[in-house]
Formats: sequence, C-alpha cells, structure tokens
Amino acid sequence: MPELPEVETIKRGLEPCVVGHKIANVRVLRPRQLRNVTPPELSARIEGEIIERLLRRGKYLLFFCSCNQVLIIHLRMTGQLLFYPSGQAPGTYTRMVITMESSGQLHLRDVRALAQITLLRADQVPAWRPLSSLGPEPFSMEFTPEDFRQALARRRAPIKNVLLGQKVVAGLGNIYADEALFQAGINPFRPANALTAVEIKGLWAAIRHTLKDGIAHGGTSIRDYVNSVGTPGSNQEYLLVYGRKGQLCKLCGSRLMGRRLAGRSTVFCPKCQPLDGIALKD
Ligand SMILES: [Zn+2]
Repeated sequence: MPELPEVETIKRGLEPCVVGHKIANVRVLRPRQLRNVTPPELSARIEGEIIERLLRRGKYLLFFCSCNQVLIIHLRMTGQLLFYPSGQAPGTYTRMVITMESSGQLHLRDVRALAQITLLRADQVPAWRPLSSLGPEPFSMEFTPEDFRQALARRRAPIKNVLLGQKVVAGLGNIYADEALFQAGINPFRPANALTAVEIKGLWAAIRHTLKDGIAHGGTSIRDYVNSVGTPGSNQEYLLVYGRKGQLCKLCGSRLMGRRLAGRSTVFCPKCQPLDGIALKD
C-alpha cells in the first residue's frame, strides 16, 4: 500500500505534468470507485478546469482545480497514478483516465479496484472527515515531540497500532511503522502510554528520518508501487526489518521475529526492541 513517501513521490512526479494544464476530458471506467459523484457529474465539474496545484495530506493526493473543485484520490492497496505524455489506450486495470488538453494523460490503474475518488468544493475540504481526523503531517511544525508525547500518553493500544491509526501522526503504514520502531529501538507491541519521554523523542526523530529516506529513495516497491512514470523506487533495498522475518538483525545479528498485530504482519528484533515483559502468543 502506498504510504507517505510513495504518495509524495507520485505527487512530485505529476506536478510538472499536470499543474497549470487544463483538463480536456475525464473518463471513468469503474464508477464504483467514485465516492460521492457520478461520472457525468465529475465530467461536468472538472472538464475545462485547470489543475492549479497538488497537495498531499497523509496518504491522500488532492488536485486543486480552478472553479473551486478539488479531486481527492486515495490509492489504498494497489492504486497507481501513471502519466503518459502522448496518451495510452486503457488497460484491463485502468479505472479512470484524465486527458489533459496539451500535456498527456493521467491513468488511475488499480488491480484490486479499492482506490477511492472524491470530488469536493474547496470550501468543503477543511471539514471533510477523512482529512480533518488525520493527525499532523510528520514534517510540519504541528508535529512536535511534546504534542506527540501528550497524544501517546492518552493511548493504551500497542504503539504500532497507534502509528497506523493516522490520528497521532499522518502518513505511516505497515512498512514505515515497522522501520521507524526498529530505528527507535521500541517494540511494536508496547502500549503507547508506556513509552518514556526519551523513547518518544527518539521515535519522533525516527519517524521523520524513515519517511525522509523513503522519499529520497523514491519510495518502497515490494508489490505494486511504481512512480508516475512507472518506475519502481529503491527503498526496499534499505529496509532493516519489514519483510525480513526470520533473517538476521543487521545491528545485532539476532533472528528477527514476525507476529501479527492488528491484522498486519509485524517484524521486530527481540534484542534491539525488547518486549519489556510483554508475553507474545506463538
Ligand atoms: Zn537487533
């Protein structure tokens, strides 16, 4: 699933191709993926409008168009946004095609067809629940170690679940949550409110560091993720725990453990990330 670094990479790739360009035509091949509009309504509201800017918030990508229209896409499990400068026939898994007047075509390709497309007026965006319920952006001034500490103090759930929940900080999914917790030396199963102030500061820094590296490497490509021109990222080559269950820890040589947590595979080093007395079921 694309997480913050993947969506950010897609956004940066798309910006020069779509910002300042006029939408000539929108073709929806899978209407079920539109959350709140019909295909004719979507066409009527954004065809002829100019995409003025892109914004990423958490794992959402927002296309701000002229005439106060905002197209919001969440790629969920397998969504890809691919830009073709000279246009391209839709493939089996193409769910939506946005043809720009002069720069090319944007395709939403999505094998599992779970990506969600929403159209709002700009004035509806701030109060839209999926965005307004998100925690701060990890690189923003609003995400401070002190606010992070206060938010964790109110939560008893395992720290990894809290990170995946998006409410304390936005943008982390399974890959970057596992990596950040490893970097901070914190076991994913520990209750959020049991972390010390020093650990929380370390985790705060590790989250930002892990995500920054992910962006610098163009995202992590394990199954479906590719950038806006169809190229995989390289961050998978740098992962220390995610996907490495049973392999040796690159720091201490212990065998990495894998467990399910909140229905997600979770990998950690039992020595670098001590369980602190928590008993795990096999
Ligand atoms: Zn280790």
